[in-house]
Amino acid sequence: SICYLDGQYLPLAEARVSPLDRSFLFGDGAYEVIPVYSRRPFRLEEHIARLGNTLAALRLPDPHSAVQWADMVREVVARNAWEDQSVYLQVSRGADDKRNHAFPAVIRPTVFMMSDALLTPPAAQLDSGVAAVSAADFRWLRCDLKTVALLANCLLRQHAVEQGCAESILFRDGFLTEGAASNIFIVRDGVMLTPPKSHLMLPGITYDVVLELAARHGLPHEVREILEDEVRSADEIWMTSSTKEVLAITTLDGRPVGSGRPGPVGRQMHAWYQDFKNTVMRS
Ligand code: PMP
Repeated sequence: SICYLDGQYLPLAEARVSPLDRSFLFGDGAYEVIPVYSRRPFRLEEHIARLGNTLAALRLPDPHSAVQWADMVREVVARNAWEDQSVYLQVSRGADDKRNHAFPAVIRPTVFMMSDALLTPPAAQLDSGVAAVSAADFRWLRCDLKTVALLANCLLRQHAVEQGCAESILFRDGFLTEGAASNIFIVRDGVMLTPPKSHLMLPGITYDVVLELAARHGLPHEVREILEDEVRSADEIWMTSSTKEVLAITTLDGRPVGSGRPGPVGRQMHAWYQDFKNTVMRS
């Protein structure tokens, strides 16, 4: 595949970054993953805005304007073969001449983009839902930032995979935060519930779309703190992300969620999401 690195488009296998790059040494960088359907980036402005928020919080000067970012994303998409892609974009604080925790005096960010085929959940998985485990959320207190320092998320996702599960659902101080790489929604008595945005979770682009769709279609919903026990006794649990879209979680810690099958509200939300995606793509 073709990637972008510091001003050049080149085959991914030929891209090289210095081992002194701060993303390698310190995880010092921001990233985004942007879904592309039929060669059209979905919610591109929102992804670029979130990147801007992360960069500002990391005090990393944004090397490009929103218009430049959009052009670069479209260029990477154009240079790759797939109709549906997931574009990965990373900005790191670049390299110094030696390892030093404090920022370099002169910062030259490393800008990297690559793309891969977008693989949304296959029909069989949508039909059965996926299994999840619970885990204590031991991440730092800036989970609202999309940084490449993802060691805790990797450990938490691996914890799920080693138990034959697709995701870890994270709890902090008895409350739901999110998944290792997704946001979490539950349904209780026909009401869709999800935690409010805070420093404890990533403000998901898909999370926003799901809330917009609930409002548009008059689905009863509440954004509020959710107790661990409310998740464990929920009728439905879903995970949302740019690549998983809306995916039912049908077992938690080996016990069935509700009926043990994807529930009606989640199926409806998945259908609304597909419709919305398709109308945006055609417009
Ligand atoms: N939370 C975390 C920790 C994530 O890594 C992701 C996926 N990027 C999400 C939530 C979902 O965010 P989005 O809908 O923007 O993909």
